[in-house]
Amino acid sequence: MVLKYIEEYRDGTLARAIIKKIQAVSKKKLRLMEVCGTHTMSIFRHGIRSVLPEGITLLSGPGCPVCVTAQKDIDAFVEFSRIDNVIVTTFGDLIKVLGSSSSLGKEKAAGADVRIVYSVFDAINIARENKEKEVVFCGVGFETTIPTIAAGILMGIGDIPLIGDIPLIGDIPLIGDIPLSGMSLKKEYEKFDAAIKFGMDMPDMPEPKGCACGEILMGLKTPEQCGLYKKKCTPMTPVGPCMVSSEGSCAAFYRYS
Ligand code: SF4
Repeated sequence: MVLKYIEEYRDGTLARAIIKKIQAVSKKKLRLMEVCGTHTMSIFRHGIRSVLPEGITLLSGPGCPVCVTAQKDIDAFVEFSRIDNVIVTTFGDLIKVLGSSSSLGKEKAAGADVRIVYSVFDAINIARENKEKEVVFCGVGFETTIPTIAAGILMGIGDIPLIGDIPLIGDIPLIGDIPLSGMSLKKEYEKFDAAIKFGMDMPDMPEPKGCACGEILMGLKTPEQCGLYKKKCTPMTPVGPCMVSSEGSCAAFYRYS
């Protein structure tokens, strides 16, 4: 396969002209937040921070679905994996995130049926193939993932017959544990909410001690301002979700900063 437009996007003359223009028009201090981890990685990889005027500060925000998942939801996912007859389906990154006592990865290693999927539709197929089991999909994320999750629910009640039951975690946090930022299923779809179906109500848990992920997501701190960064917390020994996910702010800073 031949990739097109590589040269066009790497035109040095054009890039230098754009940088000059930005330098010329930037008169006041600006703080800009990118909310997508892929953007954060690209900004680092292409050295964009180093060519911006001094007055422009780039902040790395939520990053990816894993980074915005509250501890209590991780704890709920772990609890689901411990229920007999339940298959937990999850995005791959989430499996490494540590809750207050365990992670889906640890539970899987201990024998739980935890499966990595790439979308809610994979979970639907698993449910179809396992009619005698309950399949829980960990519906984490924000606006980018919500439409496909909603589509999965509609498939479950629409014309396409569903053989297995597909409960779905109701709480889809938007930005960490900021009050009133979460999303949940509307009343008419509650039968798809695994937390309601299984009576799962995990208590709110604080972030890991010393972890500043919540403040980083809100743009109040940068990873370097966390006392654990590059000391206790590295990609090999992640403390918080911003370091677990390869697209998390802390992981991006660790790799490129
Ligand atoms: Fe949390 Fe680690 Fe990032 Fe600190 S460096 S905010 S402990 S993920």
